[in-house]
Amino acid sequence: MASSKECENELKECEKELKEYKKELYSKECVAQNINFVVSEASKEVITLMDYERFSGYLATILARDKEVVAVWLRVLSDHCEIYLSKNFAWLDNDVKYIDKIMKYLKDISKDAPMESSTNGTFAEAVMLYCSAKLESRLKKLKNYIEKNGDSKHIKSFIDFFLINIDNTDKESMIMMSQVCNKYYKEIKYKSSIPPKFLGYIKKVGSYAGSIIGIIECAHNIQYQSLFSNVIVIRRSPVVINNQPIYSWKNIIRRFIDEDKYKNFMAKCLNKTKVTERMRRVYTNNTTQQQQLLDGDDVKQCIYLHAEMNILIYIIDNKINGREFIAVSKKCCYLCGLYIDFAQEQGYNIIISGNHKKIYSGWKLPHVKDNNFKIRSLRYILENLDRIIEKKLEHYTRSLAADSDSGENNPDPNNSDGEYMDVHFKKVGKKLKKFTLVQL
Ligand SMILES: [Zn+2]
Repeated sequence: MASSKECENELKECEKELKEYKKELYSKECVAQNINFVVSEASKEVITLMDYERFSGYLATILARDKEVVAVWLRVLSDHCEIYLSKNFAWLDNDVKYIDKIMKYLKDISKDAPMESSTNGTFAEAVMLYCSAKLESRLKKLKNYIEKNGDSKHIKSFIDFFLINIDNTDKESMIMMSQVCNKYYKEIKYKSSIPPKFLGYIKKVGSYAGSIIGIIECAHNIQYQSLFSNVIVIRRSPVVINNQPIYSWKNIIRRFIDEDKYKNFMAKCLNKTKVTERMRRVYTNNTTQQQQLLDGDDVKQCIYLHAEMNILIYIIDNKINGREFIAVSKKCCYLCGLYIDFAQEQGYNIIISGNHKKIYSGWKLPHVKDNNFKIRSLRYILENLDRIIEKKLEHYTRSLAADSDSGENNPDPNNSDGEYMDVHFKKVGKKLKKFTLVQL
């Protein structure tokens, strides 16, 4: 029988090995992001969601401010519901107050208040004050697109629709623009003649009015009323490690190719501005803001747990095996996608909408209680990264360019047009900054 000393040694050895594997993972993420940012085309799979799952999506939309990523998971229990929230970085006081406010509205709305109730208006106002900067940036993208493609048929028909559906007094109201886009999206989403990029812009602008209406209708739904009148919110704490040691760029690449090939490869990389720009970003130390040497031996990286992984840890640690939908305000990245694939293979029925298949360095491995699960998931991800790096280095003469679309994620609206909200939106619009979408 092994003595306790031997067991202890074995455990230490195991931990050392795990630490080494993790260092390798975080180093390879950096290399992979630089040479193969987009692994494959974004998934176009359409998942049919239950009403309450769609509700999580609406919540994720209205809880994400600026560039933040928010994940939402609704756990429906027999007599109440738990809403798990997580985001990539710290919750600010302002966020906590906002979430409390939203939950209070949710309870009020579900207490069979009529559809025209003034609570709907105050709810819409709170959401728009929190999200207006992000809505404005989405409107700017749409406006840019309209200006560049002004002569196209699809733009002309959008402008016609816009002018018919918006009152003169609301022409500069951001929330009314969102409401018009929300309606327009439903009309055009199945038309193949509409360029996907334009459809995406319309959907994103419309997502605010769409989410507000969606939440109100879900809270009113008699089937869910008791759940929403008894909601518990659990905010997950973010996990960020500022100074994770990693192997240098050269150290990793030389594990795949020899010195001559490395020199050749570097000459090619340095010619591509997109690659050098990404290298600069990836290898800049988060604390000192200094660019680190590509062949240095003291390279550090900031790593953090992605919002959806933070929720997934809870599901795995508590062995929750039912169908669980995690809504995220942005499509999930390649590494989160891989981890979810692995969890699915282990019997977890995790549903997530959308994967933009991009590799982000700084992705932190979820720290689940089950060591065996942790080690096997780590190996699975490393194997995939090795395959990607190897393949890309083999074909390094080909283009290294990748586009940088951010792949934001909003639920497809499934609610009514919510015309009863127009009166509230009109009022809220007057309190927000003005925006001109279409020059008349
Ligand atoms: Zn991710």
